[in-house]
Amino acid sequence: MNITDYIFLKRYSLAKNGALDAYKTAILNQRMDESALNELVWEKTKKLVSHAYANVSWYKDKFDELGLHPFDITKPEYFGQIPILKRHEIINNFDKFISKGVTSKNLKFITTGGSSGKPLKIGVSKRRIREIQKWQMFDWWNVPLNANMASIYRGVPVNGLKKLALSFINWPQKIIRLDAAKITSHNIRQFIHQYRKVRPKLIHGYVGALDALADYILENNIKFDFKPNSIWCTAAPISVVQENKISKAFNAPVCDQYGCSELYFVSAECSHKRGLHIFSDSVKVEIVDYRGQAVRNDLYGNIILTNLDEYAFPLIRYENGDRGRILDDKCSCGMTLPLMDKVKGRISDNINLPNSVVLSGEYLTTIFDNHTDYVKQFQIIQKKDLSLKIKVKLSNSNYTDLIKKFLERELGEKINNQVGYTIDFVDEIFSDKGKLRFIIKE
Ligand SMILES: [Zn+2]
Repeated sequence: MNITDYIFLKRYSLAKNGALDAYKTAILNQRMDESALNELVWEKTKKLVSHAYANVSWYKDKFDELGLHPFDITKPEYFGQIPILKRHEIINNFDKFISKGVTSKNLKFITTGGSSGKPLKIGVSKRRIREIQKWQMFDWWNVPLNANMASIYRGVPVNGLKKLALSFINWPQKIIRLDAAKITSHNIRQFIHQYRKVRPKLIHGYVGALDALADYILENNIKFDFKPNSIWCTAAPISVVQENKISKAFNAPVCDQYGCSELYFVSAECSHKRGLHIFSDSVKVEIVDYRGQAVRNDLYGNIILTNLDEYAFPLIRYENGDRGRILDDKCSCGMTLPLMDKVKGRISDNINLPNSVVLSGEYLTTIFDNHTDYVKQFQIIQKKDLSLKIKVKLSNSNYTDLIKKFLERELGEKINNQVGYTIDFVDEIFSDKGKLRFIIKE
């Protein structure tokens, strides 16, 4: 660890005790011998399950109902006996998830909207240091912990005492911001002006917003005489089309990070980009089929998450609605943290045709991967009558015939006259507060 990172963590530890040690441990864990890492994960899993049974009424009741006891879960293979936890179960039983002895004073509450239905509220222990995994990523990308940053995100920065505390911890860091919900050419020009002055080592932002910014930079032929170490993309699946474009605009690698509001960080790409390393010493990732059975590595399925570090409001085998797969590959970077593929869609992104053929979200989001020179953006909308509208933004209008023919070949056969589809060549595809959705169902 270099001296500036050390000083940063020391200062941070004044606000949250144990930050320095927790970071050191995480850095050791990520290169731990594979069997030792598995052993560590298993020990943490058993400890969490025993805690949940003894202290959290939801799990006590569920286990008792099934005649299951933490002592029965003697091997990692038996962990799957614990029922999958659904979103609506937390919504309807919120209080039952809070551990004995924990009061609302110890908890921070997080609400996630979700694309459909009621919002979900969960509790997070105030003591837990949720930044550890973020610092790990900085280590992977060779970015100092308090490096200058460009943030293309939503909302406004904090004010008052919190701002003061943060500026003390982060000093002399400079953060420049572009509000992802207000991407106008005026704001972009202002942002670029600051970007040149501050020369950030890291750009962090929503995929949709970064995409719009990259368009502006490339269309106006704007060049920079420096480059950041990494572009950290978050909050939405990224297509190869977007990744290439963003990377070209800033002359830096785009590193994808996956997480959800309920668990924060789940996995992220290192600079070798062979897949997303799962922070497996803090979050357990399982992939299951529609019956809830584990699928083997490399196959897609529903993502099931267990937060190994949250004891105040435990989430064990939680289905967050995303689809993904664990990769069998090893990364060339030497870290032993297992790999998962980019998360390309949600369970609800699958498009069902009347003849029960399913066009999966992960297929649809990669449909233009071999046409990145022509297609700048796209969106697939399924209307109420099940017909599809495919919006495509081209880099040049000369390519309309080529893309029409490609889609006819690629999709026409799969759709097989089950539903109608239209292609709209458009100038702009609007994002929802910087989050661009590939698949929308009306
Ligand atoms: Zn790696």
